[in-house]
Amino acid sequence: MSMTLDLAIDLISRPSITPDDQGCQEVIARRLQTLGFEIQHLRFGQVDNLWARCGHTAPLLVLAGHTDVVPVGPVEAWQFPPFTPTLHQGNLYGRGIADMKGGLAAMVTACERFLQANTQHKGSLAFLITSDEEGLAVDGTAKVVDYLQQQGQSIEWCLLGEPASVDKLGDQIKNGRRGSLTGILTILGRQGHAAYPHLADNPIHRFAPLLQELCQHTWDQGNAFFPPTTFQVVNVQAGTGADNVIPGQLEVIFNFRYNTEFTVADLQQAVIQRLKAHHLQYELSWRHSGHPFLTAQGQLLEAVRLVIKEVCGYETALSTGGGTSDGRFIAPTGAQVIELGLLNRTIHQVNECVNIEDLDKLSVLYERILERLLLE
Ligand SMILES: [Zn+2]
Repeated sequence: MSMTLDLAIDLISRPSITPDDQGCQEVIARRLQTLGFEIQHLRFGQVDNLWARCGHTAPLLVLAGHTDVVPVGPVEAWQFPPFTPTLHQGNLYGRGIADMKGGLAAMVTACERFLQANTQHKGSLAFLITSDEEGLAVDGTAKVVDYLQQQGQSIEWCLLGEPASVDKLGDQIKNGRRGSLTGILTILGRQGHAAYPHLADNPIHRFAPLLQELCQHTWDQGNAFFPPTTFQVVNVQAGTGADNVIPGQLEVIFNFRYNTEFTVADLQQAVIQRLKAHHLQYELSWRHSGHPFLTAQGQLLEAVRLVIKEVCGYETALSTGGGTSDGRFIAPTGAQVIELGLLNRTIHQVNECVNIEDLDKLSVLYERILERLLLE
């Protein structure tokens, strides 16, 4: 049996629902320790993180990912029990195989082959693995990156094993992600009897024109790497339940998915200016869950593109779509970040599975990338 398949099976038999790692990181750490990696288990709050580094010189190439998986949903809807790895018609089934234990297994076996074949190579290799990517992501990669910065360890390249492929392995990689900014807005009015509107101040009526304006506004045209910034209202709430009461306030929650044309401050300012222009009384707070990041060029992107062309025989497509990823914590340090992994077709779904041959193929892709970056 293939080494990658073997390790993937071990990992997905562990029900490591966020943030409970279930020993996955220990399995990986033991393999890496044998190869000469220095192992650090960094536990923050309830979250297990693994930092394993081999070598002390620059440039540092980090292989990053997560051992946690999303809950399984209705077990009876699964063709095979979600934590019983099952081989069926060329596929391996199990929660987390695509997102992203298959990717982790491929990274480990790629390193094993690379280090066994190349005792002399330039730079250093490291693994950054968290058990809280699918959850709040507060005590995971973000904290490890803080720790590394305090230690003065800077990352040149980061290959993230998230499932970025669509129809065929390597047909798409992510070289960035949009930012996400949420606003929690309260429009203040004055409660009153619906029959005596002159004694009240209806916050719904006051907000309606601005709502229209915000929804119809074109924030930007996007750019070469990103689609246009979008604004979505995700919740609106007012009213007392009675049909004869004008509510005293209106609560609105909205979310921006924004590109590199904007900063957080620009977006916040754009909203505040409009609130003022409409003479609204309001309270506003913000939740920012990630800056946009982009690796537009560089050695990592070039290496990944060339290797996919070489091994798979086709050009990969660059994407910055989808939600955010832990790359948002690593990219701001100045690292080049690229996401390359298995097919995303079944992630977060029942019957999550991957093609068995893709596991070995992905491991070869990672190995070739290591060779391109770390061999002279
Ligand atoms: Zn993931």
